[in-house]
Amino acid sequence: MSSIYTKHRDLQIMEYKHFSHEHNLSMYQVQPGQQLRCSGCDKFCDKTIYACWQCNFFLHEHCGNATRYIKHPSHSSHYLILSPYPTYPSNCFLCNACGTNGSRFSYCCALCEVDLHVNCAFLPPKVAHKAHPHELVLNHTSETGVQNQVCKMCRKPLDSKHWSYECLVCANYGVHTLCATNEIKMGLYQMDDGSDIEPSDQGAPTTQPAASTGQQGSSDGQAQVKLTPMDYQILLHMGLDNGSSYV
Ligand SMILES: [Zn+2]
Ligand SMILES: [Zn+2]
Ligand SMILES: [Zn+2]
Ligand SMILES: [Zn+2]
Ligand SMILES: [Zn+2]
Ligand SMILES: [Zn+2]
Repeated sequence: MSSIYTKHRDLQIMEYKHFSHEHNLSMYQVQPGQQLRCSGCDKFCDKTIYACWQCNFFLHEHCGNATRYIKHPSHSSHYLILSPYPTYPSNCFLCNACGTNGSRFSYCCALCEVDLHVNCAFLPPKVAHKAHPHELVLNHTSETGVQNQVCKMCRKPLDSKHWSYECLVCANYGVHTLCATNEIKMGLYQMDDGSDIEPSDQGAPTTQPAASTGQQGSSDGQAQVKLTPMDYQILLHMGLDNGSSYV
């Protein structure tokens, strides 16, 4: 997302250019009850968004700021490129992470037909969920996936082709990525401001890793994302690998 100052009468308004949209976008604060769908992830918008009102085109801040390509640990051989629309004739893609369809932005490797929702590409390596006492760890390899397993949260089948969160303490405790993160607000742990952080900058990151002790801070009903400094480095790397370029 690049920014442009535009003169509107005597007012200077900050406008933004996103590579997927022909018009400039402006920042907008979503009002309570207002239902605007994000053109990046197809979910409802909240908080601050980028908007083109003439086209009803909206982007979450984190969707609009998603970097153009990432190196993802699930597919280390190639960069995943941010594509504003599916590259398949069906106009949709099947997300390798969550196994559901998408029709908007994806991180994809066209060579290998790997496609990820933007939100799925930035799933936290570890989550805590009130339905389970232990930390759940993201598993994007299919090797350890037990056959014919069901998700311990929704009781629906767990497909070993897709990613899951697993408990390292309990045997065979696996859950869907969407079930494990259903209480987490997307964007909280995401590298929202990744494009503003210089790789050399050792200053405090804008997305603070939460305390990893798990002893405090988990207020009832709130899923918590726990990032150890190591995890944070990994996330940082995903968004800021040498090759990353920004709009
Ligand atoms: Zn979005
Ligand atoms: Zn427009
Ligand atoms: Zn997905
Ligand atoms: Zn590939
Ligand atoms: Zn489930
Ligand atoms: Zn457990």
